[in-house]
Amino acid sequence: MDKNAIEIRGLTKTYKAGRGSPEKPALRGIDLDIPMGAVFGLLGPNGAGKSTLINILAGLVIKTAGQVTIWGFDQDVNPRQARASIGVMPQELNLDPFFTPRGALEVQAGLYGVPKSQRRSDEILRLIGLEDKAQAYARTLSGGMRRRLLLGKALVHMPHVLVLDEPTAGVDIELREMLWENIRRLNAQGMTIILTTHYLEEAEEMCDEIAIINHGNLVARDSTANLLGQLDTKTMIIHPDEPINTLPECEGIEVITRPGGELAITYQSGATPAEAVLDAVHRAGIRIRDVKTEQADLQDVFLELTRSR
Ligand code: ADP
Ligand code: MG
Repeated sequence: MDKNAIEIRGLTKTYKAGRGSPEKPALRGIDLDIPMGAVFGLLGPNGAGKSTLINILAGLVIKTAGQVTIWGFDQDVNPRQARASIGVMPQELNLDPFFTPRGALEVQAGLYGVPKSQRRSDEILRLIGLEDKAQAYARTLSGGMRRRLLLGKALVHMPHVLVLDEPTAGVDIELREMLWENIRRLNAQGMTIILTTHYLEEAEEMCDEIAIINHGNLVARDSTANLLGQLDTKTMIIHPDEPINTLPECEGIEVITRPGGELAITYQSGATPAEAVLDAVHRAGIRIRDVKTEQADLQDVFLELTRSR
């Protein structure tokens, strides 16, 4: 069996009730294993509990109950080793404006007890493309540069596991490409990557495995391929040769006319073969000029699983 980078059992978090806001659990007993070497996506709508989970892994938020093991170290038994095994790029920009990028990396390395001789500030500055800004004050850096610096800070102690909380939310395409390239390279070197993202197509492209959480519960956990295969809903788009009089009818299909006269026929490919759909189209006397199919993507799986539960 493959080893796990992270093992989470019964993880629960209830933030203290604030003024006027009742106590509401942010995580409700999550069990989750994340294999070593994976690029693992943690998805869920806003407020689902993603950042809470990640911040608990990082040791930034204290869990209410449950067990967290990072790289074999139980967070409660070996807190120092658990913390040393993981690096976190937070969702919020929380950089001290009075530090330079090199200074920020050195301070972070100091916090993690990395001896001076083992520090890799120059290498990290190169990796995040901030060599020429090494001595600039953080407050003079653009938003994109600050996010790159946050990634750099997460790497000072060469963690086994790198966690990125919405790394590409609100960043431009160039920076996004650069972040993904870095992440792919680090993963190729053996680092386990865990990320949250709003962009489902990004998760689809980047992640081997995905967990979806909603209202503090785990609602799905599977390989990206299996999650996508889980919905076998297909849509056949028919462009008729001339305006149609009769809609196709057949057990198990749903027909919608789209503006422009296209027919969108939805069916379950497991139960209804494409052939049967086409037969129904022919029976309705429709001549096909063009036909294409649309397949469910992660967005559909996501909506299906997070629909008002
Ligand atoms: P996500 O990252 O998936 O958007 P969060 O983990 O940030 O979700 O939030 C999960 C829930 O916990 C939300 O209802 C949020 O309002 C609440 N929450 C998050 N942080 C705090 C906090 N520091 N104090 C009180 N409630 C919080
Ligand atoms: Mg969040």
